[in-house]
Amino acid sequence: MSPRLTSRSSRTSALRTRAAVLAAGFGMSAVLGAGVAVAADTTSVGTSASASASVSGVASAVEAQAAAQAKAAKTAAAAKAKAAAAKKAAAKKAAAKAAAKKKAAAKAAAKKAAAKAAAKKKAAAKAAAKKAAAKAAAKKKAAAKAAAKKAAAKAAAKKKAAAKAAAKKAAAKAAAKKKAAAKAAAKRAASWVHPVRKYTLSAKFAQAGGMWQSTHSGQDFAVNSGTDVVAAHGGTVVKAGPNGAGDGPAYGNAIVIRHGNGTYSQYAHLSRIDVRVGQVVRTGQHIARSGNTGNSSGPHLHFEIRRTADYGSAIDPVAFLRAKGLSL
Ligand SMILES: [Zn+2]
Repeated sequence: MSPRLTSRSSRTSALRTRAAVLAAGFGMSAVLGAGVAVAADTTSVGTSASASASVSGVASAVEAQAAAQAKAAKTAAAAKAKAAAAKKAAAKKAAAKAAAKKKAAAKAAAKKAAAKAAAKKKAAAKAAAKKAAAKAAAKKKAAAKAAAKKAAAKAAAKKKAAAKAAAKKAAAKAAAKKKAAAKAAAKRAASWVHPVRKYTLSAKFAQAGGMWQSTHSGQDFAVNSGTDVVAAHGGTVVKAGPNGAGDGPAYGNAIVIRHGNGTYSQYAHLSRIDVRVGQVVRTGQHIARSGNTGNSSGPHLHFEIRRTADYGSAIDPVAFLRAKGLSL
């Protein structure tokens, strides 16, 4: 402070006020303002007598002070601006840092979410695969069950068909057997048999000889007396008795049986007659015992096939029986 600033006047008061205003306008600190005020008070006390001090000098000092104050204010403002800039930069940095942190956090969260989603997706895929596998297994099981059922049904049907076929076959076999039996019975009923079982053919039909009136009227079967004589075919007895039953004493005991279709059979030289006229006999049925009665040279059965019941209508009996299928 210059001692020249000791004069006290209304102007100094005005300057003091201006300085204060300047200080306030430049944003000066309270200390600086107080300093100016103190200086002004000091000079007013010490130099109240020198009010004639140069106004221009005071103005110059005030300007210098104002300039200094402006400079200081400018510097402070610059510092403040710098600090603000630094603060701003720091804030920016902090913001950037926070943003980076936020970004990193978001990234981490996104990564975490993605991992979670992936895990969820994986779990879902796993569950879906498990479900699909279970479904496929169930389907396979059902198919196997159905196949087994089908196979069983097929086997049952096959078995049933086989049983049916077997039954049909058995029935056919039984029917064939029955038919064959019936046929055999019919054949037996229709067939002819030998009048004696064991024999030797001796005098033939139409053979010439002293034993007969003209030629031999039948076939002689040489057998022992008492041999079983049977009906060569079923029919009705029309003649039975001694003397050829009406055909002459040369025949001895004789029987004639009517068979139908103009066919008769005659049995002669019998030792015993076991049927009577009118009796119906079956093929092969016992009718007499062989002998040697009548005009006979030895024990034998004289056998004829006739077209009537009487003598004189005979045909070759061996040819006749052979035509009926017998071998003799
Ligand atoms: Zn004879």
